[in-house]
Amino acid sequence: MPAAKKPSTRRKITAPEPAPATCPDCQGTGEIRETVRVGARKGRATDDHQTALCLTCWGTGHAAD
Ligand SMILES: [Zn+2]
Repeated sequence: MPAAKKPSTRRKITAPEPAPATCPDCQGTGEIRETVRVGARKGRATDDHQTALCLTCWGTGHAAD
């Protein structure tokens, strides 16, 4: 009795691991720089900047998927 042919060409297709996407808001730094504004209704921007934790990625620098 001939042995049953087994399909041997089946290959596991593994997707390449995607690189972690860079956070679009902080460009991967995990921090955002925002202009310090003074005055009522945030009218006037100053030359000062302040850094804050990026709320999009929570400081990881990677975009959430
Ligand atoms: Zn971010």
